[in-house]
Amino acid sequence: LRLEKLRADQALVKLEDANQRLLAMATTDALTGAANRRQYGDRMGAEVARAQRKGFPLALLALDVDHFKRVNDTHGHPAGDAVLKAFVGLIQTLVRPSDLVARTGGEEFKILLPDTGLEEAVAIAERVRERVAAMEVRPDIDAAPLRVTVSIGCALLVGDMASTEAVADERLYRAKAQGRNRVVWR
Ligand code: GH3
Ligand code: MG
Ligand code: MG
Repeated sequence: LRLEKLRADQALVKLEDANQRLLAMATTDALTGAANRRQYGDRMGAEVARAQRKGFPLALLALDVDHFKRVNDTHGHPAGDAVLKAFVGLIQTLVRPSDLVARTGGEEFKILLPDTGLEEAVAIAERVRERVAAMEVRPDIDAAPLRVTVSIGCALLVGDMASTEAVADERLYRAKAQGRNRVVWR
């Protein structure tokens, strides 16, 4: 009977392990480890509801790597992949564990900042922009270091999720139009 119990316990541990791996696969992007669109949508919905209920501020950053096609064209797709990985890895060190970094498109990302007002959100966006511009990525041990920049649109919660995203995206679009490697917040 004791042996049976041991086997059942071991099976349970295995099952829990498999469940964890499945959950990670369903909620994160395999290349970068950032949250995927699904997790982003779920979390954004919950955070919007919470912010409205409690009257807390909620900030959203929309990011797009500048001239990323050139990175691929000049250095190859694997080098582009290495840049995206390093980009997300760096950003994760600049935000709080309670913030969410999500890959919402190829080289497009959203950062959700709960309990964050405009001034603080702009400061975070500026820090991300500066640190990305200073980052050097070596796709290979003997490759020359690559550099990229990022454009960022910064918005506070306005109305619902869709209209907030629209504001952040429109500001990102203007950051591109104004010359890239910048943060637009109004
Ligand atoms: P802009 O400054 O206007 O954003 O220019 P851009 O070149 O970044 O924009 P564009 O949308 O033309 O190009 C995005 C590129 O990102 C094209 C696509 O091949 C590349 N890309 C998307 N996903 C991945 C990926 O997972 N890995 C790599 N290496 N490249 C990717
Ligand atoms: Mg893009
Ligand atoms: Mg781009």
